[in-house]
Amino acid sequence: MNKEITIQKNKINTNQLPVDGNEGIVIAMDIGGTKIKTGLVDHDKIICTAVIDAESSNGLKDKLKFIEQTVNELMLQNAVDKNKIKGVGISMPGIVDSMQKRVLSIDNKFNDVVELDLNEWVKNTWHTKLEIENDARCALVGEWQYGKGKGYNDVVLMTIGTGVGSSAVIEGKVLRGKHFQAGCLGGHFTINIHGTACNCGNIGCVETEASTWNIENIARNNAGWSESNLALEKHVDFENIFRLAKAGDGLAKILRDRCVEVWSAAAVNLIHAYDPEVLIIGGGVMASADFIIPYIQQKTDAHAWTPWGKVKIAAAENINAAALLGAAWLVYNN
Ligand SMILES: [Zn+2]
Repeated sequence: MNKEITIQKNKINTNQLPVDGNEGIVIAMDIGGTKIKTGLVDHDKIICTAVIDAESSNGLKDKLKFIEQTVNELMLQNAVDKNKIKGVGISMPGIVDSMQKRVLSIDNKFNDVVELDLNEWVKNTWHTKLEIENDARCALVGEWQYGKGKGYNDVVLMTIGTGVGSSAVIEGKVLRGKHFQAGCLGGHFTINIHGTACNCGNIGCVETEASTWNIENIARNNAGWSESNLALEKHVDFENIFRLAKAGDGLAKILRDRCVEVWSAAAVNLIHAYDPEVLIIGGGVMASADFIIPYIQQKTDAHAWTPWGKVKIAAAENINAAALLGAAWLVYNN
């Protein structure tokens, strides 16, 4: 089992902190499809983190014991007593009921999580409260409070990777909606009425048109596949698409240009839906932010109906840390 523990150097003496009011340390978890990141967070500081393999097709239940051991090890190494823990914050893919602390629906990973009582697990394990929220919402809260959204009241996030996630803060409040799905289904906006079926039930979603889980299918079905160097890669992903497009590969260029068009259209839709001042874009594709951000900025400047001015398009400051910081912020502020 892969386990990597990195401990931040600017270690603080956590045992001097009382847990009254807004003090204390938060156990934060970013549960992703391939990796589970756990960490101890003190407000805007990530004290330490540990990353473990998610093996999400096997479900989450059998992983809980291992997560528990990993967190307890971090607490031991950093001399954080149980009584200094303010709560646990979990960032989770899917539709999350943050009031009942349950995952309502999840797409293709950790299928057992809908049945799990994580609140009970947290209560029994660390005798503290749980805040659980959709991963794009946690990342947005992190960026809003500590990253590129700082100082704004109206911020939208789009994350591009295996799938496409979104979330919105409107008038200083995280948008959740009656069924906890408001703002977070931007990846399932219809972008192509002649598109292919998505796992969500819709057709031609942003995700089916331009995210990692479907991009290889799109590439293989293109007439240029056999002549493209993409066919020599182990998998088709945005790293090799952008790299090969830059080197002049015909199919890679077609895919790259199509994807940025899809993301630009999604950005216009998000702006029209949620009226942000800033739209933050995160995810693995931000390795190519130099190409993507100006492209989307130019497209939204040209096509979004915003008579008040222009929405700023920005690359996320640190989307990986943002989910942990956001989950922790929800613990401190709920
Ligand atoms: Zn969909």
